[in-house]
Amino acid sequence: MCENAETLFTPKTIQSSEDWLSCHEEKCQTFQAFKDSKLRNKISKERNIIYLYIADQKIDDDFKQILLSYCQAFYHGMQVNLMEPKVQGDFMVIHNIPCRINQYTGMKQYDAEAILAKTIPMVPKSAYCMLTVTLQDLYPRPSWNFVFGLANLSKRTGVFSFVRYDPLFQGIQTPKRNLILKRNACGVMVHEIGHMFAIKHCTYYECTMNGFNSYEESTRSIRYLCPVCTKKLQLAIGFDTKERLVKLREVCESIGFSENAEYYKDFLLDFGRV
Ligand SMILES: [Zn+2]
Ligand SMILES: [Zn+2]
Repeated sequence: MCENAETLFTPKTIQSSEDWLSCHEEKCQTFQAFKDSKLRNKISKERNIIYLYIADQKIDDDFKQILLSYCQAFYHGMQVNLMEPKVQGDFMVIHNIPCRINQYTGMKQYDAEAILAKTIPMVPKSAYCMLTVTLQDLYPRPSWNFVFGLANLSKRTGVFSFVRYDPLFQGIQTPKRNLILKRNACGVMVHEIGHMFAIKHCTYYECTMNGFNSYEESTRSIRYLCPVCTKKLQLAIGFDTKERLVKLREVCESIGFSENAEYYKDFLLDFGRV
C-alpha cells in the first residue's frame, strides 16, 4: 500500500508500565491470520449497514453529524445510519438501567451489561453491526470501578461511553475541550467497530486499533489506521484505498479535525509518489 510506511507510521512502542502492552499479552494478528479467521463477520447483501445508536440526549445534532461523517469516511464504502430511541426521553430512565454513584469520581454510572441486554434485541436485521454510544459513565459489574464499554461480537453489537475521553473528566482544562472530546470519540467509535470486523488489537504501529489502558495512551495513537489494519479493512470492505484517504481528508477538514486533515494531505502526497 505504501512504501514509505516508516515515515508516516511510528512502530508501536511501550512508553510506560501502565501501557496496554505492558499489562496484556497481545498476540499480533497478521493480515493472513485475519484473512483466514473463521470469526470474520462478513458483509453480505442482507447485513451491510453500520448503525450508530445514539442513546444519550447530551450527544447533540452537531456531535451526531460528526460521528456519522467520520464513520462514513473511515469505513468508506459502507452505509452508516444513525439510530435513536423510538421514545423521546432519557434512554437510561426509559429502560430502567441500574445505576450507582462511583466512589472515586462521585459521578453517576450505569450498568453496561443491562444496556447491552436491552440493545441486543434492537439490532436491525440489516445491521453489519450496531454501536450504542453514550456520554454516561459505565460499569460492568459491582466490583469494577468502570468500563469504557462492553460488546457482544456474536450479536454484532456493543455499548461504549465517550465520557472518559472528555479532557475535563481527566481534569484537563483546555479551550479545545469540545474538539478534543469529539476527536477522541470518533477514534474510539471506529476502534470498537474495527473489532466488529474481527480486527484484533494492533501491535505493529501506533494505530487506531492499538489496545489502550488510559486516556493518555488512547490519545497517543487512536487517530490513524496503520497499513496492516488498513489492508485488513480493505479486504473486508473492498474500498479503493486512495479514495478512502481523500474522503478522510475532506471530512476531517469539514468537521474541524485540522491536524488529521494535514496528516491525510501528507499521506496523499506520499501516496502519489508510490
Ligand atoms: Zn479494543
Ligand atoms: Zn494497525
